[in-house]
Amino acid sequence: MNNQKLKRSGVKRAPHVSQKPGHLFVLSAPSGAGKTTLRRAILDQFSDLLYSISYTSRKPRNGEHDSVDYHFIGKAEFETGIAQDRWAEWAKVHGNYYGTSAHFLNQNLADGKNILLDIDVQGTRQILNRYPESITIFVMPPSLEILRNRLESRGTDSAQTIALRLKNAKKEMAQQKLYRHVIINDRFADALAQLASIIEKYRITR
Ligand code: 5GP
Repeated sequence: MNNQKLKRSGVKRAPHVSQKPGHLFVLSAPSGAGKTTLRRAILDQFSDLLYSISYTSRKPRNGEHDSVDYHFIGKAEFETGIAQDRWAEWAKVHGNYYGTSAHFLNQNLADGKNILLDIDVQGTRQILNRYPESITIFVMPPSLEILRNRLESRGTDSAQTIALRLKNAKKEMAQQKLYRHVIINDRFADALAQLASIIEKYRITR
């Protein structure tokens, strides 16, 4: 039935559901494993990959911008969001809340977009419960020794903070089995190529 006839008959055409839902890619890594650099490079490489900007109650660091690095919101707004089921997943990391907008994910997945999340292991578990088809990727440092060297050479953290980050890194690395893919970030170019080939494999292009 064409549109004219449909109009006359009073029958409503079903909403246009032309596409398959997009893929959700979840990237996690212990701090110092080079995840942020990898994330930026992969987003440059795949212009159709949409980055889910997380919401956080932590204060912006120097050089960070609202709605670019994070959506910076207050603790009270975040907690209201928990009560209203606004987050597809959320976690408290180092005393601050971090979460992913459920609306952003659902709307863009329904539109057939591919989305990249950069979240921690606790968040990944929740995402896998809600979106079991997610493609999960864990970035590993080559060794704890190298991770320690990287954290120390950044020169941004105290010895105490480095010790805490290493402790957390060990805990996170022990949960790598949760992830479908594990990339060892020894040489950056190799790690980036591996990540690109994973995304290429699943990516829906139209
Ligand atoms: P940072 O404060 O250094 O930017 O991030 C600290 C940790 O929080 C990182 O491991 C990062 O992956 C994680 N994180 C960032 N956004 C989210 C989020 O929306 N949900 C969860 N669960 N973790 C997040």
